Amino acid sequence: MSRLHNFSAGPAGMPTKVLERAKEELLHWNSTGTSVMEVSHRGADYVALAHKAESNLRQLMRIDDAYAVLFLQGGASLQFAGVPMNLLQGTADYLETGAWSKKAYQEASRYTMLGQINLVASGKEGNYTDVPQRNAWRLTDKADYFHYCSNETIHGIYTDVPSSINAPLVCDMSSDILSRPVDVSRFGIIYAGAQKNIGPAGLSVVIIKKELLDKASSICPSVMNYSLQAKADSMLNTPATYAWYLAGLVFEWLLEKGGVPAIYEQNQAKAKLLYETIDGSSFYHNAINPTCRSIMNIPFTLADNSLDEVFLKQAKTAGLLALKGHRSVGGMRASIYNALELESVQVLVDFMMDFEKKFG
Ligand SMILES: *Cc1c(COP(=O)(O)O)cnc(C)c1O
Repeated sequence: MSRLHNFSAGPAGMPTKVLERAKEELLHWNSTGTSVMEVSHRGADYVALAHKAESNLRQLMRIDDAYAVLFLQGGASLQFAGVPMNLLQGTADYLETGAWSKKAYQEASRYTMLGQINLVASGKEGNYTDVPQRNAWRLTDKADYFHYCSNETIHGIYTDVPSSINAPLVCDMSSDILSRPVDVSRFGIIYAGAQKNIGPAGLSVVIIKKELLDKASSICPSVMNYSLQAKADSMLNTPATYAWYLAGLVFEWLLEKGGVPAIYEQNQAKAKLLYETIDGSSFYHNAINPTCRSIMNIPFTLADNSLDEVFLKQAKTAGLLALKGHRSVGGMRASIYNALELESVQVLVDFMMDFEKKFG
């Protein structure tokens, strides 16, 4: 049986080549006579693997020595708490552009003993179809940090790096990290759960400017304390060793493909093909302002939503998986992360045009 076209929002499809390599060395890794998941994270073999993964990620994203790169657990959601526990002392600003930045805002708001969380603006009134107008943002003077989500996975909205923000930028990049070139030097913290563009679930990457270390509150759990984790090379306790290994393989795969600029080109071509199909028809619709459409997650609705179930069923028969939209939004969603090839989007687009002919 061949691998199907997987449009899952997360955990998402992995590059087939990476899985093949993992399969090949599953029982005997690196001449150790064991699997990589059966060795100590403090042994020389594993430590070398961990360092290599970090240096490859640094190369891919051009991360310099002013930043620490951490491989932690708990997913992006734990960082919703980790960020305020590490940085909040007075007030932090949060921009709400969709479901994930809203969750980050709500989680941070629980830590009233540390400081205040200010909602800068929310796209809620427009049903999260647009990034709130910059001139309406209510920014705090001297905020500890400014938090936003670059790619709203559920709503399909992309927010560009905000300019002229005086506070350190903290960005949840879970669903678009490594999908396009980013100037890391503009950020205080970039964090991402792995299961969209990095590897399997269970791992999260935190890239933090070293000058922001050592500010953690005394209530911050040690394993969530970025300074302690940086000093311990992310091994304060046992890390997610197998997920870290697989992330390392994904970084190598990406470097072989030509790095972030090359994958960005492919990602743009995939998104263009799908958006053009949606916009070119009156049967399919995407509600997001075209200036801030995601190139990773593309939600769309059918003109007649009583056809949703038929669409999903026939799509599955055609080998197109996981196209059901998030329950809070409805309709369909195609997640087209780095690992998904242009060919898969072509198969989807052909299917959509066929379906429209039959039912439109
Ligand atoms: C998936 C996702 C999350 C949640 O990740 P978990 O690892 O499940 O905590 C947070 N933010 C964004 C943007 C996401 O796509």
